Amino acid sequence: MARALMAAMERIVIVGGDAAGMSAASRLARWAPGARVIVYEREDVVSYAACGMPYHLDGRIPDASTLLVRAPEKFADAGIDVRLGHEVVAIDPSAGKVLVRGDGAERAEDYDKLLLATGARAVLPALPGRDADNVFLFRRYADLTTLTAYLERDRPRRMTVVGGGYIGIELADVLTQRGLAVTLVEAAPQLMPTTLDAAAAKLAEEELRSRGVEVRLGEQVTEIVTAAGRGRAVRTTHGQWECDAVIVGVGVRPETALATEAGIAVDGRSGAIATDISLRTDAEGVWAAGDCATTTHAVTGQRAWIPLGPAANKQGRSAADAMLGLPARVPGVVGTSLVKVFDLEVGSTGLTAEQALSEGFDAATTTITSTDRAHYYPNAAPTTVTLVADRKSNRLLGGQITGRTGVAGRTNVIATALHSGMDVEQFTGLDLGYAPPFAPVWDPLLVAGNQLLHTLNASTEEPR
Ligand code: FAD
Repeated sequence: MARALMAAMERIVIVGGDAAGMSAASRLARWAPGARVIVYEREDVVSYAACGMPYHLDGRIPDASTLLVRAPEKFADAGIDVRLGHEVVAIDPSAGKVLVRGDGAERAEDYDKLLLATGARAVLPALPGRDADNVFLFRRYADLTTLTAYLERDRPRRMTVVGGGYIGIELADVLTQRGLAVTLVEAAPQLMPTTLDAAAAKLAEEELRSRGVEVRLGEQVTEIVTAAGRGRAVRTTHGQWECDAVIVGVGVRPETALATEAGIAVDGRSGAIATDISLRTDAEGVWAAGDCATTTHAVTGQRAWIPLGPAANKQGRSAADAMLGLPARVPGVVGTSLVKVFDLEVGSTGLTAEQALSEGFDAATTTITSTDRAHYYPNAAPTTVTLVADRKSNRLLGGQITGRTGVAGRTNVIATALHSGMDVEQFTGLDLGYAPPFAPVWDPLLVAGNQLLHTLNASTEEPR
C-alpha cells in the first residue's frame, strides 16, 4: 500500500454521510490511516438504511433506530471525523476550500482532496397545495420521523400516494398493511415505467388491486386541494380523490447545486455530476460518487445515472481508491432492483424493451409464465419472466421477473449474465440448480431463454 501512504498526511473532505460518503470514509480510514478524513453531513444522522424505512411504517421493523446502521462514535473510533448538522454551502476547487455552515457559524475549511457524495433529493412538483402540512416526502430519515409522528397523532384513514415507482409501491403496501385505505396515482399508463415492461407492471398492479389499493394509472396530479391549510383531496386530470394526507414519491433528482455553482460539469441527460471512469469530476482534486454522480452502464457502455444503494456503496469505495491513487475498480451498473409488492416479488435488471430500442438496439423480447418450483410441489406458484435481447448480436440486454419466491436469486442470475456480456445461447446453457422445493428442472429463466432463442432464430436462416 505504498501509494496509500502518500495520502497519509492529506486532509480529505467528504460532503454527505450516507452510503457513498461513509463507504468512502471507511475505505480511506483503512488504507490511509494517517490521513485526516472529515465528513460533513447536514442532517443529524449518518449511514442510515433508507431502504428499510418503509418497513417501519407497517411495524415489521418496530424500532426505527435499528435503521441507523453505524453510529457516528463508531466512525470516530475508526479515525473518521463526522460532523453532523454541518452543511457545505459552497466549494472552491481552485483554492481547495469548502464553506461550511454549522454550530451557528460559517467558515472556510481547506482540503487536499474532496469527495461529493451529496446523493439525491425527492422531487416535489410545483403543485398548488404542496406546502400543506399533511403533504409528505419520503427520502430522508427525518421524513420517516415526521410521517410516523403524523400517523400516530392524526390517525388518518385514507392516504394518497403520488407516484407509482418502487417507493410509491412500497408505501402503498406498508400503509395498507397498517390499515389505511390507499390510492396510488401514477401519470404513466403503467407502474414503474422506467424499470418494468408491461407484463411485469401489470402483475404488480394486479397484486396491489387484489390487496385493496386503488390504483389510478394515466392520471396526472394537477393540484392538492386544501382546506384550512390541510390537503383534503388530490385533483388529477381525471377527477378529484378525497384523502386525509398525501405522500409524494415521484422520483429523485441528483443533488448537484454545490458542483454546478462551482462550475463542475454535469451530464447533459441526467443532470448528475459528470465523472470519468475513476469517478473524477472535471475539477482538479474533486471526485463524486453515489446518487449525485454518473456511472458506467455495463450493458450500453455509456455513462448513466442509476440512483440505487449497492452502486452508491461500491462507488464510494472506488472513489476512495481513486483518491488514494490506487487503480480504481469502478464496477459498472446494470440497474438491478427488487421490490416487494405485498406477497409478490418483482425484480428487474438491465434494459427494458423500450429502453433497449431507445438506446439503438434492435430489441427482441419474450415473456413466459412457468412455476417457481416443480409444478407438483406444494405451494408452487406462477413466476413470469421477461427477457430482452439484441437481434443483431444475440446479446442479452435485460430481464424482469415476478413471482412468489426466488425472484431475487433469478434476477441476480440475469444481472450476472449481463455483466459478463452473455448472449442468449450462453444464457440458456447455464447449469442452474434444480430440486422440486426450489425450482423446476427447466428453471423459468431457461424456459424464457429458450423461447427467446426461438424468436431470434425465426429471424435468421441458421439456428444460432
Ligand atoms: P444519499 O443517501 O442521498 O446521501 C447523501 C447525503 O448527503 C445525505 O445524507 C444528505 O443529507 C447529505 N448532503 C447533501 N448535500 C449536503 C451538503 N451540502 N452538506 C452536507 N451534507 C449534504 N436502493 C436500493 O438499491 N434498494 C432499495 O430497496 C432501496 N430502497 C429505498 C427506499 C427508500 C424509501 C429510499 C428513500 C431510497 C431507497 N433506495 C434503495 C435508494 C438508496 O437509499 C440510495 O441509492 C442511496 O441511499 C444513495 O446513497 P448516497 O450516499 O449516494 O446518497
